[in-house]
Amino acid sequence: MSEANFDFDLIVIGAGYGGFDAAKHAAEHGLKVAIVEAREMGGTCVNRGCVPSKALLAASGKVRELADSQHLQAFGIHSGPVRFERKKIAEHAKQLVEGIRVNLTKTLERAGVEILRGEGRLEALQRVGLREPNGVDRLISAKNIILATGSDPFVPPGIETDGRTVFTSDEAINLEWLPRWIAIIGSGYIGLEFADIYTALGCEVTMIEALDKVMPTFDPDITKLASRKLIDGRDIDAKAGVLAKSVTPGCPVMIELTDSKNGELSEKLEVDAVLVATGRVPCSKSLNLEELGVETNRGFIPVDNTMRVIKNGSPLTNLWAVGDVTGKLMLAHTAAAQGIVAVENILGNAREIDYRSIPAATFTHPEISSVGLSESDAKELSQKDHFELGVVRSYFKANSKALAELESDGLMKLLFRKDNGEILGAHIYGLHAADLIQEVANALARRQGVIELASEVHTHPTLSEVVEVAYKQAAQQLKKASRN
Ligand SMILES: Cc1cc2nc3c(=O)[nH]c(=O)nc-3n(C[C@H](O)[C@H](O)[C@H](O)COP(=O)(O)OP(=O)(O)OC[C@H]3O[C@@H](n4cnc5c(N)ncnc54)[C@H](O)[C@@H]3O)c2cc1C
Repeated sequence: MSEANFDFDLIVIGAGYGGFDAAKHAAEHGLKVAIVEAREMGGTCVNRGCVPSKALLAASGKVRELADSQHLQAFGIHSGPVRFERKKIAEHAKQLVEGIRVNLTKTLERAGVEILRGEGRLEALQRVGLREPNGVDRLISAKNIILATGSDPFVPPGIETDGRTVFTSDEAINLEWLPRWIAIIGSGYIGLEFADIYTALGCEVTMIEALDKVMPTFDPDITKLASRKLIDGRDIDAKAGVLAKSVTPGCPVMIELTDSKNGELSEKLEVDAVLVATGRVPCSKSLNLEELGVETNRGFIPVDNTMRVIKNGSPLTNLWAVGDVTGKLMLAHTAAAQGIVAVENILGNAREIDYRSIPAATFTHPEISSVGLSESDAKELSQKDHFELGVVRSYFKANSKALAELESDGLMKLLFRKDNGEILGAHIYGLHAADLIQEVANALARRQGVIELASEVHTHPTLSEVVEVAYKQAAQQLKKASRN
């Protein structure tokens, strides 16, 4: 097919954060673009993820703050009992979702992107089959195709969901009711955020984690400090090393827990509700990839750092994949960044994604964030590349702003190379950790060293001085090492 005969320069399948950014960027750079969406515009992030969950966290966070009479009394403030309306909190999240979805759709239309409703699949490397909502099937072609079909919640075998008493984050974001006692299966960021919401709103939580400790994906030092406040300090009973072998919806919900190691039945629970937060699976089944000879990894589409889809070990020229469906750092801003990288390459500007500089945050109260390597990965790298690993810790309890807020529980851990000062990673727990990590992410993107960073002036008094102190400590270690 000659270039002029294609219906579009680019077809994007999936209008989540990844597809949205790719389609907008391509249209703004003069490409003729169509985006195919089977459900609501905006995908998981806008409709079932970041946006509604952060709205619920904002409202429940205020309830927690106002209900913390001890904390308020330390300022000399005396408040009465806090009252809240669950329905209004849910409505706040719903309205925010609708507003953002409308804006996002208008933005695409204004950029000149053609929005096609229906389910897309690959018919060939440059051809998409579109099943429209009315059942009509049609074929459209494009020089390039980006797959941005995202992910869905993973529900392990043995767990039955009914959407009402046993549900995933897809339903939890609607906050349809407040169970007196809820079990949350999984202590990753989604489980932790919902535990934050539910406990602030007066629910009792049992947290079930299959691995041998809660918060297994976080830095161990951060976990130690954060879990004291986020789990032990709240109405949460955490059970690690146990598997939710069977969950049966109803009133009550029946849970059978087995020991993760020996598989023996360890406990039976009867709770009011269960939230299943055990990870996410890619949406790639209906794309026809196998027919085109593309082998997926448990459904995740293999890509190189230019976002080209890999077939038989080699990148394809005109087929790209971005976002959760690639399984890399499954976050909205990763999806968006990958989308831009794919389009830049389509436009002829060679670009590669830099995963090391992509930050991640958990929006609990207080927050947790990270960027770059974990300490164990950094150690492994230091052994492989023969350099000494530097680790410094900066505490919120030495920060004037945190002390003024009476929120001095927090820690930042900075990992760097002791030979040249390059930052390798950072892990933060404390007030506004999600904002603080951005400064380190930017420095990491530029591969800046701690000597240069330690000379940058930070506003006083701000929480950003926690980062400044870490940079200064690291620079001192480096100078000391070079003197020896
Ligand atoms: C509860 C929760 C909270 C989260 N909080 C955050 C957060 O605070 N920050 C953050 O960065 N990330 C967060 N995430 C993760 C974030 O939502 C995802 O990483 C992000 O949405 C991925 O974007 P995507 O474009 O890859 O896929 P998605 O957003 O999943 O979009 C994919 C779209 O493709 C469509 N689609 C799928 N198959 C087809 C097909 N065959 N034809 C047509 N359309 C199709 C789907 O309907 C969907 O609209 C959260 C996720 C959850 C569940």
